[in-house]
Amino acid sequence: MLNGERKTPRPLRWAMVGGGRLGQVGYKHRCGALRDNTAFALVAGAFDIVPERGREFGVNLGVDADRCYDDYRTLFAQEAQREDGIEVVSVATPNGTHYQITRAALLAGLHVICEKPLFFTSREAYEIKALAAEKNRIVGVTYGFSGHPLLLQMRAMIANGQIGEVRMVDLQYTHGFNATDEVDRLSDAQKWRIDPQISGPSFVLGDISTHTYYLSQLVMPQMQISELLCDRQSFIPSRAPLEDNALVMMRYANGAVGRMWASSVNAGAMSSQRIHIVGSKASLEWTDVNPSELSYQVQGQPNQTLYRGMPYLDETCNAWERLGALHTEGLTESWANIYLKFALAIDACNRGDRQALDQLVYPDIDAGIDGVRWIENCVRSADQGARWVAFE
Ligand code: NAD
Repeated sequence: MLNGERKTPRPLRWAMVGGGRLGQVGYKHRCGALRDNTAFALVAGAFDIVPERGREFGVNLGVDADRCYDDYRTLFAQEAQREDGIEVVSVATPNGTHYQITRAALLAGLHVICEKPLFFTSREAYEIKALAAEKNRIVGVTYGFSGHPLLLQMRAMIANGQIGEVRMVDLQYTHGFNATDEVDRLSDAQKWRIDPQISGPSFVLGDISTHTYYLSQLVMPQMQISELLCDRQSFIPSRAPLEDNALVMMRYANGAVGRMWASSVNAGAMSSQRIHIVGSKASLEWTDVNPSELSYQVQGQPNQTLYRGMPYLDETCNAWERLGALHTEGLTESWANIYLKFALAIDACNRGDRQALDQLVYPDIDAGIDGVRWIENCVRSADQGARWVAFE
Protein backbone atom coordinates (compact mmCIF):
# COMPACT_ATOMS: atom_id res chain seq x y z
CA MET A 1 0.00 0.00 0.00
CA LEU A 2 1.24 3.49 -0.83
CA ASN A 3 1.33 6.27 1.76
CA GLY A 4 3.17 9.10 -0.02
CA GLU A 5 6.54 8.19 1.46
CA ARG A 6 9.31 8.71 -1.06
CA LYS A 7 10.26 5.84 -3.35
CA THR A 8 13.05 7.70 -5.16
CA PRO A 9 15.95 9.68 -3.62
CA ARG A 10 14.43 13.12 -4.31
CA PRO A 11 11.72 14.72 -6.42
CA LEU A 12 12.69 14.93 -10.09
CA ARG A 13 12.94 18.43 -11.55
CA TRP A 14 9.98 18.39 -13.92
CA ALA A 15 8.60 20.68 -16.65
CA MET A 16 5.53 20.64 -18.82
CA VAL A 17 5.10 21.57 -22.47
CA GLY A 18 1.43 22.37 -23.02
CA GLY A 19 -1.24 21.58 -20.48
CA GLY A 20 -1.98 25.28 -20.11
CA ARG A 21 -4.92 27.10 -18.63
CA LEU A 22 -7.43 26.00 -21.29
CA GLY A 23 -5.90 22.59 -21.95
CA GLN A 24 -8.05 19.57 -21.17
CA VAL A 25 -5.46 17.13 -19.92
CA GLY A 26 -2.81 19.28 -18.22
CA TYR A 27 -4.34 19.19 -14.75
CA LYS A 28 -4.49 15.38 -14.85
CA HIS A 29 -0.71 15.37 -15.34
CA ARG A 30 -0.20 17.70 -12.39
CA CYS A 31 -2.63 15.72 -10.22
CA GLY A 32 -0.65 12.59 -11.03
CA ALA A 33 2.88 13.93 -10.79
CA LEU A 34 2.43 16.11 -7.72
CA ARG A 35 0.13 13.86 -5.74
CA ASP A 36 2.79 12.62 -3.31
CA ASN A 37 5.06 15.66 -3.33
CA THR A 38 7.98 13.24 -3.32
CA ALA A 39 8.31 12.05 -6.92
CA PHE A 40 8.23 15.24 -9.04
CA ALA A 41 8.62 18.99 -8.51
CA LEU A 42 7.18 21.29 -11.16
CA VAL A 43 9.95 23.84 -11.71
CA ALA A 44 9.57 25.06 -15.31
CA GLY A 45 7.37 24.97 -18.38
CA ALA A 46 6.26 26.24 -21.76
CA PHE A 47 2.64 25.76 -20.86
CA ASP A 48 0.77 27.37 -23.70
CA ILE A 49 0.85 28.13 -27.40
CA VAL A 50 0.15 31.73 -26.31
CA PRO A 51 3.34 32.66 -24.39
CA GLU A 52 1.90 35.42 -22.16
CA ARG A 53 -1.00 33.25 -21.07
CA GLY A 54 1.40 30.37 -20.43
CA ARG A 55 3.69 32.54 -18.32
CA GLU A 56 0.86 33.92 -16.22
CA PHE A 57 -0.56 30.44 -15.78
CA GLY A 58 2.82 28.99 -14.78
CA VAL A 59 3.32 31.68 -12.16
CA ASN A 60 -0.14 30.92 -10.79
CA LEU A 61 0.95 27.28 -10.49
CA GLY A 62 3.89 28.41 -8.37
CA VAL A 63 6.60 28.23 -11.03
CA ASP A 64 9.24 31.02 -11.01
CA ALA A 65 8.46 33.60 -13.69
CA ASP A 66 11.94 33.28 -15.19
CA ARG A 67 11.37 29.56 -15.72
CA CYS A 68 8.09 30.02 -17.61
CA TYR A 69 9.30 30.05 -21.22
CA ASP A 70 7.77 31.17 -24.50
CA ASP A 71 8.26 27.86 -26.29
CA TYR A 72 9.72 24.40 -25.79
CA ARG A 73 12.96 25.10 -27.65
CA THR A 74 13.78 27.99 -25.30
CA LEU A 75 12.72 25.86 -22.32
CA PHE A 76 15.15 23.05 -23.21
CA ALA A 77 18.00 25.41 -24.14
CA GLN A 78 17.73 27.67 -21.08
CA GLU A 79 17.23 24.87 -18.58
CA ALA A 80 20.32 23.08 -19.96
CA GLN A 81 22.35 26.12 -18.82
CA ARG A 82 21.31 25.75 -15.19
CA GLU A 83 22.90 23.49 -12.59
CA ASP A 84 19.41 22.82 -11.26
CA GLY A 85 17.89 22.45 -14.72
CA ILE A 86 15.00 20.14 -15.51
CA GLU A 87 15.51 16.38 -15.81
CA VAL A 88 12.18 15.30 -17.26
CA VAL A 89 9.45 16.91 -19.32
CA SER A 90 5.82 16.01 -19.95
CA VAL A 91 4.32 16.72 -23.36
CA ALA A 92 0.61 17.59 -23.14
CA THR A 93 0.09 19.26 -26.51
CA PRO A 94 -1.99 18.27 -29.56
CA ASN A 95 -0.91 15.05 -31.30
CA GLY A 96 0.88 16.62 -34.26
CA THR A 97 3.54 18.19 -32.02
CA HIS A 98 4.48 15.08 -29.97
CA TYR A 99 7.20 13.78 -32.25
CA GLN A 100 9.12 17.01 -32.66
CA ILE A 101 8.91 17.96 -28.97
CA THR A 102 9.87 14.46 -27.76
CA ARG A 103 12.79 14.35 -30.18
CA ALA A 104 14.05 17.77 -29.08
CA ALA A 105 13.70 16.80 -25.41
CA LEU A 106 15.71 13.59 -25.85
CA LEU A 107 18.40 15.48 -27.76
CA ALA A 108 18.52 17.86 -24.79
CA GLY A 109 19.16 14.86 -22.53
CA LEU A 110 15.75 14.79 -20.88
CA HIS A 111 13.49 11.93 -19.93
CA VAL A 112 10.09 12.33 -21.62
CA ILE A 113 6.53 11.58 -20.59
CA CYS A 114 4.32 12.05 -23.63
CA GLU A 115 0.62 12.01 -24.34
CA LYS A 116 -1.08 9.44 -26.52
CA PRO A 117 -1.40 8.76 -29.38
CA LEU A 118 2.36 8.92 -29.19
CA PHE A 119 3.14 9.84 -32.83
CA PHE A 120 1.58 9.65 -36.29
CA THR A 121 3.67 6.73 -37.61
CA SER A 122 5.44 3.68 -36.20
CA ARG A 123 8.52 4.73 -38.20
CA GLU A 124 8.71 7.87 -36.05
CA ALA A 125 8.09 5.80 -32.93
CA TYR A 126 10.89 3.32 -33.66
CA GLU A 127 13.22 6.20 -34.43
CA ILE A 128 12.43 7.77 -31.05
CA LYS A 129 12.89 4.42 -29.30
CA ALA A 130 16.39 4.18 -30.80
CA LEU A 131 17.18 7.77 -29.81
CA ALA A 132 15.96 7.18 -26.23
CA ALA A 133 18.17 4.08 -25.99
CA GLU A 134 21.16 6.02 -27.34
CA LYS A 135 20.60 8.80 -24.82
CA ASN A 136 19.79 6.35 -21.99
CA ARG A 137 16.47 8.04 -21.30
CA ILE A 138 12.97 6.72 -20.86
CA VAL A 139 9.89 7.70 -22.82
CA GLY A 140 6.66 7.08 -20.88
CA VAL A 141 3.16 7.37 -22.33
CA THR A 142 0.22 8.67 -20.31
CA TYR A 143 -2.33 5.93 -20.69
CA GLY A 144 -3.97 7.54 -17.68
CA PHE A 145 -6.44 4.78 -16.84
CA SER A 146 -3.78 2.10 -16.60
CA GLY A 147 -2.88 2.94 -13.00
CA HIS A 148 -6.14 1.57 -11.59
CA PRO A 149 -4.98 -1.26 -9.30
CA LEU A 150 -7.72 -3.74 -10.23
CA LEU A 151 -6.28 -3.98 -13.74
CA LEU A 152 -3.25 -5.63 -12.15
CA GLN A 153 -5.64 -8.00 -10.39
CA MET A 154 -7.04 -8.91 -13.80
CA ARG A 155 -3.52 -9.41 -15.11
CA ALA A 156 -2.64 -11.70 -12.19
CA MET A 157 -5.85 -13.74 -12.47
CA ILE A 158 -5.47 -14.26 -16.21
CA ALA A 159 -1.80 -15.22 -15.76
CA ASN A 160 -2.75 -17.65 -12.94
CA GLY A 161 -5.24 -19.41 -15.18
CA GLN A 162 -8.27 -18.33 -13.15
CA ILE A 163 -10.37 -17.77 -16.26
CA GLY A 164 -8.78 -20.57 -18.29
CA GLU A 165 -7.67 -20.00 -21.87
CA VAL A 166 -8.68 -16.57 -23.22
CA ARG A 167 -11.34 -16.98 -25.92
CA MET A 168 -13.09 -13.62 -26.34
CA VAL A 169 -11.95 -10.04 -25.80
CA ASP A 170 -14.63 -7.37 -25.70
CA LEU A 171 -13.39 -3.77 -25.54
CA GLN A 172 -15.30 -0.52 -25.62
CA TYR A 173 -14.52 3.17 -25.21
CA THR A 174 -17.47 5.27 -26.28
CA HIS A 175 -19.10 8.57 -25.38
CA GLY A 176 -21.63 10.84 -27.00
CA PHE A 177 -20.05 14.28 -26.68
CA ASN A 178 -19.64 14.58 -30.46
CA ALA A 179 -23.10 13.33 -31.42
CA THR A 180 -23.74 16.65 -33.19
CA ASP A 181 -21.33 18.98 -34.98
CA GLU A 182 -21.94 21.80 -32.49
CA VAL A 183 -18.82 20.97 -30.48
CA ASP A 184 -16.72 21.03 -33.68
CA ARG A 185 -17.55 24.72 -34.03
CA LEU A 186 -17.29 25.68 -30.35
CA SER A 187 -14.33 23.76 -28.92
CA ASP A 188 -10.72 24.44 -29.92
CA ALA A 189 -9.72 21.05 -28.48
CA GLN A 190 -12.26 19.37 -30.77
CA LYS A 191 -11.29 21.39 -33.85
CA TRP A 192 -7.75 19.99 -33.93
CA ARG A 193 -8.98 16.45 -33.20
CA ILE A 194 -10.75 16.30 -36.58
CA ASP A 195 -7.94 17.95 -38.53
CA PRO A 196 -5.66 15.21 -39.95
CA GLN A 197 -2.73 17.64 -40.00
CA ILE A 198 -2.86 17.90 -36.21
CA SER A 199 -4.75 14.82 -35.07
CA GLY A 200 -3.03 12.31 -37.37
CA PRO A 201 -4.57 9.48 -39.36
CA SER A 202 -7.53 8.93 -37.00
CA PHE A 203 -9.88 10.61 -34.56
CA VAL A 204 -11.57 8.21 -32.08
CA LEU A 205 -9.23 5.30 -32.83
CA GLY A 206 -6.29 7.38 -31.61
CA ASP A 207 -8.11 9.63 -29.18
CA ILE A 208 -9.81 6.96 -27.12
CA SER A 209 -9.34 3.38 -28.34
CA THR A 210 -5.57 3.52 -27.79
CA HIS A 211 -6.34 3.69 -24.04
CA THR A 212 -8.49 0.56 -24.08
CA TYR A 213 -6.14 -1.28 -26.40
CA TYR A 214 -3.31 -0.64 -23.91
CA LEU A 215 -5.50 -1.86 -21.03
CA SER A 216 -6.07 -5.10 -22.94
CA GLN A 217 -2.32 -5.52 -23.39
CA LEU A 218 -1.74 -4.72 -19.73
CA VAL A 219 -4.14 -7.39 -18.46
CA MET A 220 -3.14 -10.09 -21.00
CA PRO A 221 0.42 -9.32 -22.20
CA GLN A 222 0.72 -12.78 -23.75
CA MET A 223 -2.05 -12.13 -26.29
CA GLN A 224 -1.00 -11.01 -29.75
CA ILE A 225 -3.38 -9.84 -32.47
CA SER A 226 -2.67 -11.66 -35.73
CA GLU A 227 -5.34 -10.03 -37.93
CA LEU A 228 -7.95 -7.32 -37.66
CA LEU A 229 -10.81 -5.77 -39.59
CA CYS A 230 -11.78 -2.17 -38.99
CA ASP A 231 -14.82 -0.32 -40.27
CA ARG A 232 -14.80 3.41 -39.54
CA GLN A 233 -17.40 6.08 -40.19
CA SER A 234 -17.85 9.84 -39.97
CA PHE A 235 -21.47 10.22 -38.93
CA ILE A 236 -20.86 13.95 -39.01
CA PRO A 237 -19.72 14.16 -42.67
CA SER A 238 -17.53 17.24 -42.15
CA ARG A 239 -15.24 15.11 -39.96
CA ALA A 240 -14.24 12.91 -42.91
CA PRO A 241 -11.73 11.50 -43.56
CA LEU A 242 -11.41 11.09 -39.80
CA GLU A 243 -13.86 8.80 -38.05
CA ASP A 244 -16.18 9.56 -35.14
CA ASN A 245 -17.09 5.88 -34.83
CA ALA A 246 -15.16 2.67 -35.43
CA LEU A 247 -15.84 -1.03 -35.08
CA VAL A 248 -12.85 -3.36 -35.03
CA MET A 249 -12.79 -7.15 -35.04
CA MET A 250 -9.64 -8.94 -33.97
CA ARG A 251 -8.22 -12.45 -34.32
CA TYR A 252 -5.50 -13.43 -31.87
CA ALA A 253 -2.59 -15.79 -32.42
CA ASN A 254 -3.95 -18.28 -29.85
CA GLY A 255 -7.29 -18.58 -31.69
CA ALA A 256 -9.15 -16.08 -29.51
CA VAL A 257 -11.34 -13.42 -31.13
CA GLY A 258 -12.16 -9.89 -30.08
CA ARG A 259 -13.91 -6.66 -30.84
CA MET A 260 -13.41 -2.99 -30.02
CA TRP A 261 -16.06 -0.29 -30.32
CA ALA A 262 -14.69 3.24 -30.25
CA SER A 263 -17.13 6.09 -30.62
CA SER A 264 -17.69 9.73 -29.79
CA VAL A 265 -21.24 9.65 -31.19
CA ASN A 266 -22.73 7.14 -28.74
CA ALA A 267 -25.46 9.67 -27.96
CA GLY A 268 -26.44 9.87 -24.32
CA ALA A 269 -23.76 7.47 -23.09
CA MET A 270 -22.14 8.51 -19.85
CA SER A 271 -20.25 5.32 -19.17
CA SER A 272 -17.10 5.22 -21.21
CA GLN A 273 -14.62 2.39 -21.03
CA ARG A 274 -15.19 -1.34 -20.57
CA ILE A 275 -12.91 -4.33 -20.79
CA HIS A 276 -14.39 -7.82 -20.72
CA ILE A 277 -12.23 -10.94 -21.09
CA VAL A 278 -13.93 -14.29 -21.52
CA GLY A 279 -11.95 -17.45 -20.86
CA SER A 280 -12.74 -21.15 -21.11
CA LYS A 281 -13.72 -21.30 -17.40
CA ALA A 282 -14.71 -17.78 -16.36
CA SER A 283 -14.94 -14.11 -17.32
CA LEU A 284 -13.58 -10.85 -15.92
CA GLU A 285 -15.13 -7.44 -16.51
CA TRP A 286 -14.01 -3.97 -15.44
CA THR A 287 -15.25 -0.48 -16.29
CA ASP A 288 -13.63 2.85 -15.60
CA VAL A 289 -16.88 4.29 -14.22
CA ASN A 290 -16.72 1.77 -11.40
CA PRO A 291 -12.99 1.20 -11.10
CA SER A 292 -13.11 -0.14 -7.54
CA GLU A 293 -15.02 -3.26 -8.54
CA LEU A 294 -14.02 -6.22 -10.69
CA SER A 295 -16.65 -8.68 -11.82
CA TYR A 296 -15.53 -12.32 -11.77
CA GLN A 297 -18.00 -14.73 -13.30
CA VAL A 298 -17.17 -18.43 -13.01
CA GLN A 299 -19.26 -20.77 -15.14
CA GLY A 300 -21.74 -22.64 -12.91
CA GLN A 301 -21.10 -20.49 -9.82
CA PRO A 302 -22.68 -17.32 -8.40
CA ASN A 303 -21.05 -14.17 -9.76
CA GLN A 304 -18.46 -12.47 -7.55
CA THR A 305 -17.54 -8.82 -7.20
CA LEU A 306 -13.95 -8.27 -6.10
CA TYR A 307 -13.44 -4.96 -4.28
CA ARG A 308 -10.40 -2.73 -4.42
CA GLY A 309 -8.13 -2.68 -1.40
CA MET A 310 -9.20 -6.03 0.05
CA PRO A 311 -6.61 -8.47 1.41
CA TYR A 312 -7.82 -11.28 -0.86
CA LEU A 313 -6.47 -9.44 -3.91
CA ASP A 314 -3.11 -10.21 -5.50
CA GLU A 315 -0.12 -8.42 -3.94
CA THR A 316 0.80 -6.91 -7.35
CA CYS A 317 -2.58 -5.16 -7.23
CA ASN A 318 -2.53 -4.06 -3.60
CA ALA A 319 0.99 -2.66 -3.98
CA TRP A 320 -0.67 0.28 -5.81
CA GLU A 321 -3.48 0.78 -3.32
CA ARG A 322 -3.60 4.21 -1.70
CA LEU A 323 -6.70 4.95 0.35
CA GLY A 324 -7.88 1.53 1.45
CA ALA A 325 -11.08 -0.40 0.77
CA LEU A 326 -14.39 1.51 1.08
CA HIS A 327 -12.66 4.84 0.47
CA THR A 328 -13.33 5.96 -3.07
CA GLU A 329 -10.41 6.09 -5.46
CA GLY A 330 -10.61 7.28 -9.05
CA LEU A 331 -8.80 8.66 -12.04
CA THR A 332 -6.55 10.93 -9.96
CA GLU A 333 -5.10 7.96 -8.10
CA SER A 334 -4.65 6.12 -11.39
CA TRP A 335 -2.62 9.03 -12.76
CA ALA A 336 -0.65 9.25 -9.50
CA ASN A 337 0.23 5.58 -9.88
CA ILE A 338 1.46 5.87 -13.46
CA TYR A 339 3.48 9.00 -12.61
CA LEU A 340 5.04 7.18 -9.66
CA LYS A 341 5.96 4.39 -12.08
CA PHE A 342 7.54 6.93 -14.42
CA ALA A 343 9.60 8.26 -11.48
CA LEU A 344 10.70 4.72 -10.58
CA ALA A 345 11.61 4.02 -14.21
CA ILE A 346 13.62 7.25 -14.49
CA ASP A 347 15.42 6.52 -11.23
CA ALA A 348 16.25 2.96 -12.32
CA CYS A 349 17.44 4.23 -15.69
CA ASN A 350 19.65 6.88 -14.06
CA ARG A 351 21.17 4.25 -11.77
CA GLY A 352 21.68 1.84 -14.66
CA ASP A 353 19.50 -0.75 -12.87
CA ARG A 354 18.34 -2.71 -15.90
CA GLN A 355 16.73 -5.43 -13.79
CA ALA A 356 14.48 -2.99 -11.91
CA LEU A 357 13.55 -1.32 -15.19
CA ASP A 358 12.66 -4.60 -16.87
CA GLN A 359 10.49 -5.69 -13.93
CA LEU A 360 8.50 -2.48 -13.77
CA VAL A 361 5.11 -2.72 -15.49
CA TYR A 362 4.38 0.75 -16.86
CA PRO A 363 3.32 2.38 -20.14
CA ASP A 364 6.72 2.69 -21.79
CA ILE A 365 7.90 3.47 -25.32
CA ASP A 366 6.90 -0.01 -26.50
CA ALA A 367 3.35 0.59 -25.27
CA GLY A 368 3.38 3.87 -27.19
CA ILE A 369 4.66 2.11 -30.33
CA ASP A 370 1.96 -0.55 -30.03
CA GLY A 371 -0.71 2.15 -29.82
CA VAL A 372 0.59 3.72 -33.03
CA ARG A 373 0.67 0.28 -34.71
CA TRP A 374 -2.91 -0.35 -33.58
CA ILE A 375 -4.05 2.85 -35.29
CA GLU A 376 -2.01 2.17 -38.42
CA ASN A 377 -3.45 -1.32 -38.84
CA CYS A 378 -7.02 -0.18 -38.16
CA VAL A 379 -6.75 2.66 -40.66
CA ARG A 380 -5.15 0.39 -43.29
CA SER A 381 -8.01 -2.10 -42.94
CA ALA A 382 -10.72 0.58 -42.98
CA ASP A 383 -9.23 2.35 -45.98
CA GLN A 384 -9.25 -0.92 -47.94
CA GLY A 385 -13.03 -1.12 -47.44
CA ALA A 386 -13.00 -2.85 -44.03
CA ARG A 387 -10.95 -5.89 -45.02
CA TRP A 388 -9.13 -8.35 -42.79
CA VAL A 389 -5.43 -7.38 -42.71
CA ALA A 390 -2.45 -8.99 -41.06
CA PHE A 391 -1.43 -7.06 -37.92
CA GLU A 392 1.93 -5.56 -38.86
P1 NAD B 1 -6.06 20.99 -25.68
O1 NAD B 1 -6.18 21.56 -27.04
O2 NAD B 1 -7.21 21.10 -24.73
O3 NAD B 1 -4.80 21.60 -24.92
C1 NAD B 1 -3.53 21.69 -25.53
C2 NAD B 1 -2.65 22.57 -24.67
O4 NAD B 1 -1.35 22.59 -25.27
C3 NAD B 1 -3.11 24.02 -24.59
O5 NAD B 1 -2.82 24.52 -23.30
C4 NAD B 1 -2.26 24.72 -25.65
O6 NAD B 1 -2.10 26.10 -25.41
C5 NAD B 1 -0.96 23.97 -25.50
N1 NAD B 1 -0.09 23.96 -26.67
C6 NAD B 1 -0.42 23.66 -27.96
N2 NAD B 1 0.67 23.69 -28.75
C7 NAD B 1 1.72 24.02 -27.94
C8 NAD B 1 3.10 24.19 -28.15
N3 NAD B 1 3.66 24.03 -29.35
N4 NAD B 1 3.88 24.52 -27.07
C9 NAD B 1 3.34 24.68 -25.85
N5 NAD B 1 2.02 24.53 -25.60
C10 NAD B 1 1.24 24.18 -26.62
O7 NAD B 1 -5.67 19.46 -25.88
P2 NAD B 1 -5.89 18.28 -24.85
O8 NAD B 1 -7.26 17.75 -24.97
O9 NAD B 1 -5.38 18.67 -23.50
O10 NAD B 1 -4.95 17.16 -25.51
C11 NAD B 1 -3.55 17.29 -25.47
C12 NAD B 1 -2.96 15.90 -25.68
O11 NAD B 1 -3.37 15.06 -24.62
C13 NAD B 1 -3.43 15.21 -26.96
O12 NAD B 1 -2.40 14.44 -27.50
C14 NAD B 1 -4.56 14.30 -26.49
O13 NAD B 1 -4.71 13.16 -27.30
C15 NAD B 1 -4.07 13.92 -25.11
N6 NAD B 1 -5.12 13.61 -24.13
C16 NAD B 1 -4.90 12.57 -23.32
C17 NAD B 1 -5.79 12.25 -22.32
C18 NAD B 1 -5.46 11.10 -21.40
O14 NAD B 1 -6.33 10.63 -20.68
N7 NAD B 1 -4.23 10.65 -21.38
C19 NAD B 1 -6.95 13.01 -22.15
C20 NAD B 1 -7.15 14.10 -23.00
C21 NAD B 1 -6.22 14.40 -23.98
